[in-house]
Amino acid sequence: MVSPLLVGVQGGRKMSGMSGNAPLDRLRAQRMLEELERLQGRGTELVSVYVPPGKAISEVMNDLRNEWGTAVNIKSKTTRKNVQDALTKVMERLKLFKSIPPTGLAIFAGNIASSQLGVGDMQTFVIVPPEPITIYYYRCEHQFLLDPLFNMLSAKDVYGLVVLDSKEAAFGFLKGNRTEIIKEYTSGVQGKTRAGGQSSRRYERLRDMYLNEWFIRLGDYFTEHFRNIPNLKGIIVGGPGPTKEDFLKGNYLHYELKDKILSQVDTGYTGPEGIKELVNRSREIMKDARYYEERQTVQEFLRHLGEDDGLGTYGEQEVLQALKGVNVQLLLISEEVRRTLYRLKCKSCGYVESRVVDNEKAADFEANLGQVKCLKCGGEVEILEKEDLIEALVKMAESVKAQVELISTSTEEGEMLRRSFGGIAAVTNYRTY
Ligand SMILES: [Zn+2]
Repeated sequence: MVSPLLVGVQGGRKMSGMSGNAPLDRLRAQRMLEELERLQGRGTELVSVYVPPGKAISEVMNDLRNEWGTAVNIKSKTTRKNVQDALTKVMERLKLFKSIPPTGLAIFAGNIASSQLGVGDMQTFVIVPPEPITIYYYRCEHQFLLDPLFNMLSAKDVYGLVVLDSKEAAFGFLKGNRTEIIKEYTSGVQGKTRAGGQSSRRYERLRDMYLNEWFIRLGDYFTEHFRNIPNLKGIIVGGPGPTKEDFLKGNYLHYELKDKILSQVDTGYTGPEGIKELVNRSREIMKDARYYEERQTVQEFLRHLGEDDGLGTYGEQEVLQALKGVNVQLLLISEEVRRTLYRLKCKSCGYVESRVVDNEKAADFEANLGQVKCLKCGGEVEILEKEDLIEALVKMAESVKAQVELISTSTEEGEMLRRSFGGIAAVTNYRTY
């Protein structure tokens, strides 16, 4: 079966605007890449092509034609044919574009080894990435080469880093695995020990005044560097001593940035060394922040369940029902859910029903569809559509304006959601029982 797919890794602002849920956008893209990653060729015959923006299509076509010619040297007849067929597919896809999109293009093609059928399946995937591709290359491997796209996913989130004390401050960014120092400043504020001869009260007063001015300046620097950064997930503030706490407690930060402060961290240094210390601890800080939110979310669901107010519900059919009834305010999905939602239609009476099947059993389910009987009349059914359960749930939740939270199994609460509640739970707007 030839199944041409036009896939966009939907990430960045576009998708965030749609779902308002960045972890979800990432999970979607992540899932898609993981699916591509699983695909295997029988030989070294899966073709990956990355084209950066600005490249002329004619030039790329030319290079691909050359690769096609070079492939003549491949010894195995089957592999040779498959590589050339894949390259032809890539060129066919490329021809559909008038020019390379602003973020570039990644095209994957190849004969996918299928254990079931014993025959390959030529598939093509076109991905317009959320951020610009910076490489131009062609590879032919057992698997598709997806690292550049995986890296893009983790590089999407931006964190602000600041280390400060009364003397100096350094501002930086953490983008994916990359750290960037933006700027360093000095305050001009003198140390706590006064120079001889000055009255101590006057010295304190002056110092407070200078410190206040320093904090005002710092507030402006925060605004300058962080306020208009898209994808800024949070700011981590570090520094030795209590100055950072004094600064954050005071009213120096723009209110939009106040909400972005993820954490305050004691560091031994200021300046670039201090930023480095923050980076070393940032992974754990970001994880902590995320786990904290996940815990809170699951606990909210558990609270409703415990109070028996009729608002806590769980299980895929129950939650699907609530979503259909526009009766969900909060939807919780375990990231570990790997299931497919089928809509089945009866061939005799036309009755439509939903069935949820584990992904592992989906192929079996489809192969043995003849054994599935219509719930109404017992007639034979056909598949109307099938969709990843998480995707389906999220779409429904978005259409009824419910909040969606994806929960990892890294916390006890998340593990409980997966184990005890089938990975799917919801808080409804009103009770139905
Ligand atoms: Zn029927």
